[in-house]
Amino acid sequence: MPETWILNVDDYAPGRYARTKVLKQVGFPVVEASTGKEALDLIESRRPALVLLDVNLPDMSGIEVCRRVRDNPQTSTTTIVHISASNVLTQHQVLGLDSGADGYIVEPVDPAVLIATVNAFLRARRAEDALLKSTEELRWFSYRVAHDLREPLRTISIYAELLSQEPGSREAKSAEYLDLVKHASGRMSSFIDGLLQYSQATEVRNEIANCECEPMVSRVIANLDASIRESGAHVTWDPLPAISADIRLEYVFQNLISNAIKYRREGVPPEIHISVRPCEGEWMFSVRDNGIGIEPAYLDSVFEIFRRLHGQNVPGSGIGLALSRKIVEAHGGRIWIESKPGAGSTFFFTIPMKAALSAGG
Ligand code: ADP
Repeated sequence: MPETWILNVDDYAPGRYARTKVLKQVGFPVVEASTGKEALDLIESRRPALVLLDVNLPDMSGIEVCRRVRDNPQTSTTTIVHISASNVLTQHQVLGLDSGADGYIVEPVDPAVLIATVNAFLRARRAEDALLKSTEELRWFSYRVAHDLREPLRTISIYAELLSQEPGSREAKSAEYLDLVKHASGRMSSFIDGLLQYSQATEVRNEIANCECEPMVSRVIANLDASIRESGAHVTWDPLPAISADIRLEYVFQNLISNAIKYRREGVPPEIHISVRPCEGEWMFSVRDNGIGIEPAYLDSVFEIFRRLHGQNVPGSGIGLALSRKIVEAHGGRIWIESKPGAGSTFFFTIPMKAALSAGG
C-alpha cells in the first residue's frame, strides 16, 4: 500500500505554508514544491496520492504540468487539483479541467472545505484503485480458468478423435482411451465445482449461527472415508467447541484435512491432528499433518487462487486454500501455515468468538 501523501505546489510561499499547515494538522504528510519542474520530478519519483497545483508557476503553467503528468504513462493516473486566485476567469477553470485536472479550488478556501475536498478526492482515488485491482484480478482469473480448462479438454478431444479414427485398434486401445477421457472430464468437473464454490463464497451471505464443530468434523471424516481408508490415514482431534460461524466453515475443515491426506509422504500413512484453543477473544484452530511440507518461500502464496506447488500427479485445482482464506476472513479471522519440507505442515486459522460476517463474506 503506497503512502498517502500530498504534493503542495505553489510559488507563493505564504499561501503554500498555510495550505500545508492545514493539511498537516489533520495528519496528511505533505511535501512542497515551488516550480513546475520540481513538481514533475517529485510526481515521477515519489508518486503522491494527490497534487494541489497552483495554476501560475514561474517556469511553466500548472496546465502544462498537468498535461505532462497525463502524458507520462507512469504518472497519468495521479489525482491533480488546480488551485488559483479568486480573480480567475471561468474559461480558465474550464481549460484547467479540460486539460486533465480532476478538480479546481479557488483561493481563498476555507480550511474545512480544503480538507473535505482532499478527503473526497482520496476516496475517489481509493475506489478507482480498488476497481483497477479487481479488473486485473479478473483478467488473471479468466486467463487461468481458460488455461486450466483447455488442457483436459484437449486430452478429451485427442482421445475421442483416436477412438473414432482407429476402428482396427479400437478393441485393444479403447479401454485405455476411454479411461483417459474419463479422467480428463473428471478433472474439468472438479475444477468447475471449485470455481463455483469460490464464486459462491464471495457472493452468498450465509447466516452466522451456533455451529457445533464436533459433528461438523465427523461429517468431514465421513465424506473423506474412501481416501482415509486408501491412504491409511489416522485422524484425531481434541474436544471441539460450539462456535459462532456459518456452515461454510465445514469446507475449511474438509479442505485442510483432504490436503493433509493428498500431500502425504510416499509410504508414510498420514497422521492428522486437529486442535483448538481460545486466544484473545478468538478460537485458534490448527490442522497438523506429517506430510511432504512446504518450502518457506511459498508459505504465503499457497493461499493465492490457482497456486499449486506439487505437480500434476496429485489431483487438485489450486482453489481450496484460496477459498478457505476467503471463508475465514469473511468471519473476521486469519489463516496461515507453519511447515517444514519433508516433515509436515500445520495450518492455523482463527474465528472470533463473536464472529460477524463482513461485507461480501
Ligand atoms: P489443490 O489441493 O487443489 O492444489 P489448494 O488450494 O488446496 O489446492 O492447495 C494449494 C497448494 O498448496 C497445493 O497444490 C499444494 O501444493 C499445497 N498444499 C496444500 N496443503 C498442503 C499440505 N497439507 N501439505 C503440503 N502442501 C500442501
